[in-house]
Amino acid sequence: MSQPSIQLIRGFKDILPGETELWQHIERTAIDLFEDFGYREIRIPIMEKTDLFARSIGEDTDIVEKEMYTFTDRGKDLLTLRPEATASICRSYIQHKMYAQDPVRKFYTIGPMFRRERPQKGRYRQFYQIDAEIFGVAAPYADVELIFLLRTLFDRLAVTDTTAHVNSLGCPVCRPRFKEALSKLLDAAAPTLCSDCLRRKDRNPLRVLDCKVPGCREAMQGAPSIIDYLCDDCHTHFATVTDMLTKLGVPFEVDKQLVRGLDYYTRTAFEIQTGALGAQSAVAGGGRYDGLVGSLGGPEIPAIGFAIGFDRLSEIVAATSPVAVRPPQLFIAALGEPARAKAFQWATALGIAGVGVAMEYGEKSLKAQMKQANRQGAGQVLIVGESELQAGKAVLRNMADKSQREIPIEGIVEKLIQTLH
Ligand code: AMP
Repeated sequence: MSQPSIQLIRGFKDILPGETELWQHIERTAIDLFEDFGYREIRIPIMEKTDLFARSIGEDTDIVEKEMYTFTDRGKDLLTLRPEATASICRSYIQHKMYAQDPVRKFYTIGPMFRRERPQKGRYRQFYQIDAEIFGVAAPYADVELIFLLRTLFDRLAVTDTTAHVNSLGCPVCRPRFKEALSKLLDAAAPTLCSDCLRRKDRNPLRVLDCKVPGCREAMQGAPSIIDYLCDDCHTHFATVTDMLTKLGVPFEVDKQLVRGLDYYTRTAFEIQTGALGAQSAVAGGGRYDGLVGSLGGPEIPAIGFAIGFDRLSEIVAATSPVAVRPPQLFIAALGEPARAKAFQWATALGIAGVGVAMEYGEKSLKAQMKQANRQGAGQVLIVGESELQAGKAVLRNMADKSQREIPIEGIVEKLIQTLH
């Protein structure tokens, strides 16, 4: 009896050939840009001790409260599949004392993240992020550089329908005053808040600002703007960010509702939003987290970073500028085993010389093989059978103009390399 086939996990997905070309294109474009600006790749594990995320992302966040894939392993350690990359990069920066020689480090990393959210379009349980982080720079230029890099990357990928939203979340000096003002409003609005926000109201009132529930949104319409509460240092910092973005010609909007989901942000927070994705409008987000390295047991070193939603970005790029799949330059249609054995050796030699080549390994008629070559979009077809081997000449057919010519089997690989390169 045949077994039922096994399906992938809900909220997870396969990225298939046809899509992977586009993912590689995005990845290469991002890596080229990062490397030009002095960022170095870091690869961190996909699993960490649960404590790392609980301490860095914050106990009162959606991620830690209800979205982490956490389990006890056979050695009874409590482990979590990473829901984001920043915490791990900080852990690594501290663990390897990367600050000792020069605290200023720029990293990028690309890989899967895991959050058990409600799956929907643009929201997956395993999704991918492209991250960049700068450690050791307190100056607002780091903030501007990251937003500028996002803008440049999206331009290079021809993603135009985007806006940078920026805000400042203040610092431990000025945020308490804002929280106080906000809390007053929240107390008054309590009857209209959702159950999550009722809880957040006392523990993490800022989070109510970005709640998407209509009742909470409405209640937040009259919320004070954190910008009005910034201390002098935070104010100067934010003014330099907006000023320099203007000088660089990066379009942005100051968005006082923007707070971002994680606890560790200080000062600049930003998000790239797009109209191209429907409900899931955030394609990238980030911000400054000056206290995080210190709170994870490292020295007090400022840092800032962003994460791009790779899945969402790829959806936009696929719709606007799909990447063509590279068809084989040559298809070898061999007839009979002796010809196939020769053709196979030619194909391997052509492959290592960088010629895109395909062939049929089984016994199939010439007609079937020509169809196959056509389907794969091959530029040329080399036809070789018993009689061609005897005559010492194969036939090379140009699939575009249907012209054919003979080509000597002696030295055929070199000849084909010359013709096809
Ligand atoms: P965050 O780490 O929450 O700031 O997210 C950064 C970016 O990752 C977002 O702007 C999204 O583009 C993307 N992202 C976050 N969660 C998901 C998800 N569940 N599925 C797909 N993309 C996501």
